[in-house]
Amino acid sequence: MLSFDPDKVSLPDGHYIAGQRRQCPGNRFAVKRPSDGRVAGELTEASAGVVDDAVCVADRALKDSGWASCSPRQRGAVLQRWATLIEADSQLPLLEALGSTRPIFDVVHHEIPFTAAAIRFYAECADKYSGDVFPTRDASLGMLVPEPYGVIGAITPWNFPLSMASWKCGPALAAGNAVVLKPSELTPYSTIRLAELAVEAGLPAGILNIVQGSGAVSGSALVAHPLVRKVSFTGSTLTGARIMSDAAYHGMKPVTLELGGKSPQLVFDDAGEVTDVAERILRGFTANGGQACVAGTRLIVQRGIADALISQLITRCQDFRPGLTWDENSRYAPVIDRRQAEKIQQIVDAASLQGGEILVGGQRFADTGDGYFWQPTLIANVSPDSPALQEEIFGPVLTIQIFDEEEQGLALASHPTYGLCAGVHTKNLDRALRAMRGIAAGTVWINRYGRSGDFIIPTGGFHGSGIGKDLGRQAFEACRRYKSVLIDF
Ligand code: NAD
Repeated sequence: MLSFDPDKVSLPDGHYIAGQRRQCPGNRFAVKRPSDGRVAGELTEASAGVVDDAVCVADRALKDSGWASCSPRQRGAVLQRWATLIEADSQLPLLEALGSTRPIFDVVHHEIPFTAAAIRFYAECADKYSGDVFPTRDASLGMLVPEPYGVIGAITPWNFPLSMASWKCGPALAAGNAVVLKPSELTPYSTIRLAELAVEAGLPAGILNIVQGSGAVSGSALVAHPLVRKVSFTGSTLTGARIMSDAAYHGMKPVTLELGGKSPQLVFDDAGEVTDVAERILRGFTANGGQACVAGTRLIVQRGIADALISQLITRCQDFRPGLTWDENSRYAPVIDRRQAEKIQQIVDAASLQGGEILVGGQRFADTGDGYFWQPTLIANVSPDSPALQEEIFGPVLTIQIFDEEEQGLALASHPTYGLCAGVHTKNLDRALRAMRGIAAGTVWINRYGRSGDFIIPTGGFHGSGIGKDLGRQAFEACRRYKSVLIDF
């Protein structure tokens, strides 16, 4: 029995600093439940002073606890225990399902196992990757010695709060850093519990701290803090640009930026069984109500298969039903809030005014009160300059473009602004590899759409979709700086 009563869930109040929940004076803000728009609770925003306190605590804990200098294997053992506690905790799934767009079924079957698996992956990295020794003349020794940055400032978005936190904290902690993390003010609760479990697992108090609040106040204070030596951010492209510039201004800090996307699903006539392809396309743009950076939201389909594929998609889109995230039968995510729902509506309406044809959906589900559930939407004949093709919508909206020749399809697939992911669907290996080479995107999936849960494969975008990688060995390496050493003897 996974269903639960959202009014009976005890919500963590305050920030989490030095291994304790901390109340601080400041502006209060309401946190709403995406499923029904009701206020779940109120939190106090971390002022610059509170952020300063959290960062100084982290810096002091690094010096006092020996976290950076202990054997990497010891750090790995703590992270392994943390992953086990994450899997066993009874509160974490409730906080995630109540406070985010993720239905409890998905949280239990995907979000929690994936969060634990990501932490385990970095537990294993802790003692596996070393520096380098260079060929030098006989009486010299040249080495590249990795070391942690110190305090890393992490900022996460509202979609997939637990996964996003684990992708930031896992590599940073495994590499011996301390972290101050600011989750999205829209989905703040589960991250606090995650940090509590880390301390229960043996992470020294103060090595992982959580501050709550808006980007403008708490987030920007974190980026600017002089003791924050690196910033790891996931969120929109516009905010990423702001953070990159703030991080440069306040101390030339390196940044990892995982940003927005507008990813193509390129389908050729020889893609194989239409039902299978339709399933991939459908999941690609409707998962988490379309609120996934990797959402495949531009269908670019060759003429010969287009009618059959589109007709299947229309039928399948009509099967979706809204449902509260705390109901175990719900599978479809609400849009995070009214503002996001209005943004989706504006873009869809603009596409329609510019001649786009709404084949299915195009509006909210009726009778869902202040829960904003959007109907899966297909739009054909979209004008090339329409925001529906140019901007990340972050909702379950798929645009459709039809092409005849391979080169045309490839030309449509690369986006002028974004380059996060691409799906290529063809049984012709040569063509698949030409597409893989031809599309400007940080990830290309061939005859599938979506990550595999193998955290060894990194993720990250080209162009406006970001800088650097989350996941994989690359994210671990990016949490260390490298000292070049030359010894004469
Ligand atoms: P957002 O950019 O509005 O906010 C993200 C985070 O940044 C929040 O915690 C917010 O409070 C904070 N923030 C805002 N302004 C800030 C500032 N000036 N300084 C410091 N912090 C600031 O993004 P969102 O709406 O929460 O999330 C959705 C976006 O995230 C989408 O664009 C999506 O594509 C992207 N995303 C990308 C990936 C990826 O791996 N590439 C993964 C998930 C989400």
